[in-house]
Parts: sequence; structure tokens; C-alpha cells
Amino acid sequence: MTRLLLVGPPGAGKGTQAKHIAESLNIPHISTGEIFRLNISSQTELGKQAQAYIEKGEFVPDTVTNPMVKDRLAQEDAANGFLLDGYPRTLEQAKLLAGMLAELGTKLDLVIEIMADTDEVVNRLLKRAEIENRADDTEEVIRHRMEVYEELTVPLTDFYREQGILVQVDGHGTIDEVAARIDEVLAK
Ligand code: AMP
Repeated sequence: MTRLLLVGPPGAGKGTQAKHIAESLNIPHISTGEIFRLNISSQTELGKQAQAYIEKGEFVPDTVTNPMVKDRLAQEDAANGFLLDGYPRTLEQAKLLAGMLAELGTKLDLVIEIMADTDEVVNRLLKRAEIENRADDTEEVIRHRMEVYEELTVPLTDFYREQGILVQVDGHGTIDEVAARIDEVLAK
């Protein structure tokens, strides 16, 4: 089971858990947010297109995001599996992803949703803001990202539940506790 997607609200620990899963399964961790941040820091054309949206907590337009993901998935290291983190984030992107994967002759095996309540994730993000200095980790932008998540990303989970590939994992507790819950799911 190697084609995975990790979903969850901002601050649920997706990035950290994604690194752990990708390492233990030896598959690339594909984080759209991370690709954008790298491109912003090196001021590439893609970075310039994405920056203003990210700083406001808005989604980067699909015309920028979708081709970027398509290219990444077609790279050799993703041929035998990958862990997507942060894409898809809308139902439309999910349908598009299914099409991209069908073109490559494959599909998602499993979607892991990390569950965490809003107050806890807002607090975690405010702490992360002090450490990482991310432009989109101010309280106002965090609240906005949570709203966007509820409105646009939560419907994804229904889409994957209907396909029978959604598993929910409790995201409360320490990093190790959540990692252990995910390992248990992957072992099945
Ligand atoms: P993340 O690191 O996953 O929290 O992503 C940080 C920011 O990058 C998001 O708030 C969006 O502005 C942008 N972003 C990441 N993934 C996507 C996506 N799939 N669609 C649109 N925007 C995205």
C-alpha cells in the first residue's frame, strides 16, 4: 500500500507525520506547501505566482497548482509510491488527481485523515509561528485557513469515504503517539 494521501486541518501535524511515514515506507513526501515555500524563497516564477495567495491563507490557483503536481507525480521517484500532503485540497483537485493517476495507470490506495479540534490546532500553529516564522502563521491568517479547510477540504473526506479508502486517526497527543496510531493503520 504505497500511494497515500494525508489530510487534516492546518496544525494537525501533517508535515511531521508525513515525513515519518515517507521515511518508514521509503516513498517520496510530496508537499505542495513545501514546494511553494521553496520556490518563494528562491524567488522562481512559480514562487512569485504563489506568494501573495499563501501569505493571505488563500489557495494558490489551480492553474498553478495542478500542473506542478502533475509534473511531480510523473517523476521517476514517484513511480512506485508517494505520500501526498496538502494536495488535493478541494473536491475538484481530488477529481483531477484521480484523472492524473489514471493516466499513469494507478490510483490512491489510502487516505489518512488526522483529526484534531480547532482550539488545539490554532494553539499549535501559534507556537509554530514563533519557531518557524511562516508568513501565513499569524492568528488572523490561521483562522482564515481553518475556515477554508472546513469549507473546501472537509468535503474531500466524504469523496474518499465513499470509495472506501478513508481512515481517520486521532491527532491529539504527542507526535510519537500519533505516529504510532498511523503505523497501526499502515500495518493492516
Ligand atoms: P501547507 O504547507 O500544506 O499548509 O500549505 C501552505 C499554503 O500553500 C496553503 O495555505 C495554500 O496557500 C498553499 N497550498 C498548498 N497546497 C495547495 C493546494 N493543493 N491548492 C492550493 N493551494 C495550496
